[in-house]
Amino acid sequence: MALSLRDTGLLKTQAYINGQWVDADNGDTFDVVNPASGEVIAKVANVGAAETQRAIEAAEAAMASWKALAAKVRCDILEKWHDLVMENQEDLAMLLTTEQGKTLAEARGEIAYGASYIKWFSEEGKRVYGDILQQTPDRRGLVIKQPVGVVAGITPWNFPNGMITRKVAPALSVGCGFVLKPAAETPLSALALAELAERAGLPAGLFNIVPGLDAPAIGGELTSNPVVKKVTFTGSTPVGKLLMQQCAATAKRTSMELGGNAPVIVFDDADLDKAIQGALAAKYRNSGQTCICANRIMVQAGVYDEFVKRFSQHVDQFQIGDGLQAGTTHGPVITEKAAQGIHEKVQNAVAEGANLLTGGKISDKGTHFYEPTILTNVNRTMRVFKEEIFGPVAPIFKFETEQEAIDMANDTEFGLAAYFYTENMGRIFRVGEGLEYGMVGVNETAISSEVIPFGGVKESGQGREGSKYGLDDYLEIKYLCIGGLTQG
Ligand code: ADP
Repeated sequence: MALSLRDTGLLKTQAYINGQWVDADNGDTFDVVNPASGEVIAKVANVGAAETQRAIEAAEAAMASWKALAAKVRCDILEKWHDLVMENQEDLAMLLTTEQGKTLAEARGEIAYGASYIKWFSEEGKRVYGDILQQTPDRRGLVIKQPVGVVAGITPWNFPNGMITRKVAPALSVGCGFVLKPAAETPLSALALAELAERAGLPAGLFNIVPGLDAPAIGGELTSNPVVKKVTFTGSTPVGKLLMQQCAATAKRTSMELGGNAPVIVFDDADLDKAIQGALAAKYRNSGQTCICANRIMVQAGVYDEFVKRFSQHVDQFQIGDGLQAGTTHGPVITEKAAQGIHEKVQNAVAEGANLLTGGKISDKGTHFYEPTILTNVNRTMRVFKEEIFGPVAPIFKFETEQEAIDMANDTEFGLAAYFYTENMGRIFRVGEGLEYGMVGVNETAISSEVIPFGGVKESGQGREGSKYGLDDYLEIKYLCIGGLTQG
């Protein structure tokens, strides 16, 4: 299906450096593919380290006057950017579905979600406060906050809009310049955001985009260039660790939003209807490709059979297909390779004794489609327990006691999101405090918004995005000592 946009000016295929749309130095391009059809939808400039270096220099130059503006001036531009994103929601959703695969309804939701961060930080950016410390009679300490410097962002393909705005908006709001490397699978959403930022009046050089296939080259420049003071990354744990190592040489600050292995724990005393709906949404949203997706569903023995029966009745109703087509409830996964990787984890579980209740194979709809899958009789030695599945596969584990559930949930190096369902108040606090996760949903799995501090602990990363804490990652604290106050 051809890409049809109301505003064709939103389909950008060049890099965006210093306010200019430019080709790669060597003229090279890479293909962006619609995962639902396999069609090439665009050829995008394939830039490398040299272009990235120029983008960093542009950001540094542009920052000098940007950070000196009144916060309100910066924030007014962000507000206009937000408005333009929402005015173009339909086109941006169309682009997103076409390059990423999620259903149009989910894509519209992501555009609104992404825009909410721009709006939020257009407000929060005006609320940067300091402190005055009365140390001794003749001196005061002033604690002020200043923009950290040029920020580099590296983002994944699963939320090609939202993962960008929640980094770029706070950075710009406090006066930083930004260089973004979007995922090569989904550069079009990023480039359209830059086009709208320009239309909103963002001065040249503040928001640069360097798309490219050679992630190590672009990432190498972003993490080694001494002008970059901060690297913010959302993606896999191995790549995040590598970037942290690379940043160590110039002691850059980092924020890392890495992998997860979220449990959904359903206790015997849960409201089962709510728990089933919550688990379905948390497992199968974006066809299982979010870092806070339910990875391990754990159900207490007393309600296990009932839960499995009703959960699977819902899954049987899913319609997988092209996200642009009416009636599709679940789109493809991002690549053929991803589908094969998911299948290997399912095969591993089955080989170790899991029961395949439904699904369990690549769909006859195409190589990018994996059938919604449910596994029972699963245990802790299987890959589906230990690894992030990142696909529409629900292993449903059985447990007996509250302590066993907490132990199982914490038995992972990850610590991003966890969820549990219970109607018992004491248990809410015991389990909520016992789970080693950055975010815990109690009787709720739709936990993310611009208002909350999103982020993980353990090997799921560090730093928080959104909320009043989301600015901290882009601010340095400076202490000014004002002495000599009592001398006449
Ligand atoms: P995923 O498995 O979700 O694709 P990755 O961590 O591989 O997660 O990718 C997330 C982002 O990190 C993408 O933009 C990708 O291009 C980028 N990336 C991958 N490897 C590197 C690297 N060595 N240096 C810099 N960026 C990288």
